[in-house]
Amino acid sequence: MNQFSDFNISASLKQQLANAKFITPTPVQAGAIPPALEGRDILATAQTGTGKTLSFLIPLIEKMGSGTRAEVRTRGAFGLILLPTRELAMQVQEHYRKLTGNQGSAALVVGGMAEGPQLQQIRRGAQLIVATPGRLEDFLSRKLVNLSGIKMLVLDEVDRMLDMGFKPAIKRIVAALPAERQTLCYSATLSPQIKEVIRDYVKNPARIEIGSVLKPAENVELQTFEVATDKKHELLEHLLDSSKGSFLVFVRTKHGADRVARRLARSGHSATQIHGDRSQSQRNAALRSFSQGHHRVLVATDVAARGIDVADVAHVVNYDMPREAEDFVHRIGRTGRASARGIASTFAAPEEKGTLRKMERVLSINMKRFRVKSNPSGHLQSAQSA
Ligand code: AMP
Repeated sequence: MNQFSDFNISASLKQQLANAKFITPTPVQAGAIPPALEGRDILATAQTGTGKTLSFLIPLIEKMGSGTRAEVRTRGAFGLILLPTRELAMQVQEHYRKLTGNQGSAALVVGGMAEGPQLQQIRRGAQLIVATPGRLEDFLSRKLVNLSGIKMLVLDEVDRMLDMGFKPAIKRIVAALPAERQTLCYSATLSPQIKEVIRDYVKNPARIEIGSVLKPAENVELQTFEVATDKKHELLEHLLDSSKGSFLVFVRTKHGADRVARRLARSGHSATQIHGDRSQSQRNAALRSFSQGHHRVLVATDVAARGIDVADVAHVVNYDMPREAEDFVHRIGRTGRASARGIASTFAAPEEKGTLRKMERVLSINMKRFRVKSNPSGHLQSAQSA
């Protein structure tokens, strides 16, 4: 199974994959798609950036078949994808659109957006529901959605959904589904607690494990810069001036993100930002603009960046040190995707050296060290390999 064309899927799906330039399956796709096509449940440990989305969408689309709107309205949706955030939901929907050539009907049921259009999508007859658990549970309790026709359930990023407190909502939603169904489960990590929850949802699953779960991708060059806090901005501009390509810059706080983006804009860099204080439409606009290359730099906080899929980021910068090793892996998972090479630079103030070393130990990585040199007037002069 070296190519999608070798898979046991319809000619039209093969064609859509080829049109979207998806030729060679990634490991999680090669591992999950064949057993899922045979009807088996799946339990996969795979993080963002591994191609997990297509690994569940391909079997789902293949098995969904077609149907007129009227038929779909009568029998209800075929597939349900539960995931933690609306950004992720929108990316899944985007991939779904691509693979169905805009023919598929999907309803997005996510919090933080108006209910009306979502209900309308359901009423018009949607074969697929892509939902965050909170909003779907709400619709369910108000009897606004019928899940009795669901034949395939995908639980995406289970670990995050549990972190966000969605366990009871997921439980109530799954209880409303037919017991006779196929379940595909994805998680970046599999702690005993997560296993315990998942055990109730999958039957004899095919187990797919993609690499060490807490490890940055091999094709990302890891660098760290020892830099005083008040020199971080200069260093960022130095990296922007001395390298090519797009930059995703992680900053710890909303204010910090605003400040960095504003300073960059003032010195002529094209930068935009996403964080918790920006509205959904502002975030969407920023993401779109960055993905399409209108802005070279996207400044983000961890929460706002959860699950976003920005393809081909050349350079991820940890302007502020991530709090957890897991955040580090999620952040830099945005570069070096699906075989492109990427660079991840981490800025470490002197007082953060201990955290840096701990992060390296936990992740068993060694970052290449750079030292920042200033000229006599105190301006950044160079960043040299230490
Ligand atoms: P995911 O892990 O599902 O978020 O996917 C990460 C990125 O890889 C997305 O931008 C996908 O469009 C891309 N991708 C997924 N599968 C493939 C593939 N087989 N070939 C090339 N790119 C892919």
